Amino acid sequence: MVESTKQVSENYLSTEKGYADDWAAYIASCHMTAEEALDYIRTTNTQEDRAAHLVDMADLSARSTFVRNGNPWVHCYEEQQKLATTDSSAFLDKMEQLFNAGPDEVPVLGKYRVGESQRTVVSVGTRVMIREEDGSDRPYLLLRLIPVEYLQNTWAFPTEFPLAEISMIVNLSINQNLRRAVDMAEHVNQAKTRFLSTMSHDIRTPMNAVIGMTEIAKLHLDDAGYVRDCLDKVSASSSHLLTLVNDILDLSRMQSGQMKLNLQVFCLTDILQRTVERYQKLLGEDYQICLEQNCRVWVKADELEISRVIYNFINNACHHTGEDKQIVVRQVLDGKKVRVRVCDHGEGIPEENLSKIWDRYYRVNKSSAAKKVPGNGLGLCIVKEILQAHHARYGVESQLGEGSTFWFELEVWDQELTQK
Ligand code: ADP
Repeated sequence: MVESTKQVSENYLSTEKGYADDWAAYIASCHMTAEEALDYIRTTNTQEDRAAHLVDMADLSARSTFVRNGNPWVHCYEEQQKLATTDSSAFLDKMEQLFNAGPDEVPVLGKYRVGESQRTVVSVGTRVMIREEDGSDRPYLLLRLIPVEYLQNTWAFPTEFPLAEISMIVNLSINQNLRRAVDMAEHVNQAKTRFLSTMSHDIRTPMNAVIGMTEIAKLHLDDAGYVRDCLDKVSASSSHLLTLVNDILDLSRMQSGQMKLNLQVFCLTDILQRTVERYQKLLGEDYQICLEQNCRVWVKADELEISRVIYNFINNACHHTGEDKQIVVRQVLDGKKVRVRVCDHGEGIPEENLSKIWDRYYRVNKSSAAKKVPGNGLGLCIVKEILQAHHARYGVESQLGEGSTFWFELEVWDQELTQK
């Protein structure tokens, strides 16, 4: 029964089995159904004379990748079961052997005739997990069929027989993954270089001020007024430096996914009220900051981080507000959502820059006049990270010459509580 397989190079057959092993591994990893598995093999198998069979070992029903008159079913295995001869039971034992073979064993089944294709074949194969209709996985036997006439005509099977179709697919996806990894590494590298050069520049400016002012103060030790003036400048530059370093550290912590939110229920309206009052006191009567709200709202969020967002929006509005020096903070309730809007009547932001202002270090106007507006271009980037971590919606509406409105939205925690 298996006489011609004696002539077959072991290497060649293990190569053939390699196809079946690779198919089986991919089919199982994708949880394919029998139909999907056969379709997958049909599209990847470039050697048309090598059909594949998928055998259900429970009843030996089998489907082929080779479809005749629209029918994929093959009956040669069921027929062996019906034969009840020594040969047929040896055949069935061999199928069991293939089904249970370890990775290094290459049992060969055959030779046998596949009625549907009118060909005599031997086959090698492996166990494959197939997804059933109920979603569970069940093992089948996946066979790769080799026509006997092919084996008989080809004695010296090249051991380096290329695993053409599989290796092409595998290499393709590996190469794509490698390409993606390289692109990502390049992108991260460029971002790091940009980050380090901007950061060094930003740190150097206040650092120089601290060193310079300290040196100047040393030269005027007998002039208390002069020294005090220098120390004020040293102090302002130091706190700017500290804010910058803290912002950089916070941002890199957030962007490396290490941000842990401390979620708790708190009164958003109280936070808004407190921040507005603090700002009003800080800026004096020249500025007018007011809060418009008609109810108290509680939310479940990280109180410290949300306060930081509110602080940032109000701080920016103060720096960019127009002649009227008016800032309006609105708390708007909309069903289960509460929206906080911070509006100013300042210069506004050109439309083409609206999406960029959330990027690290982006400042719309980098001219020396604009440098009088303090800031490091990190504020909105930090805001974005905080709001994204909360899965909160946020945005900006702006009209050149009319002003800007920055907003974010949170879920109202408890409607009842808001009624209190
Ligand atoms: P900065 O520290 O420069 O304020 P931000 O990240 O907070 O950094 O803001 C980024 C840029 O967005 C600012 O430099 C400014 O150009 C623009 N911007 C932010 N808020 C406003 C506003 N209310 N009106 C006009 N421009 C604004």
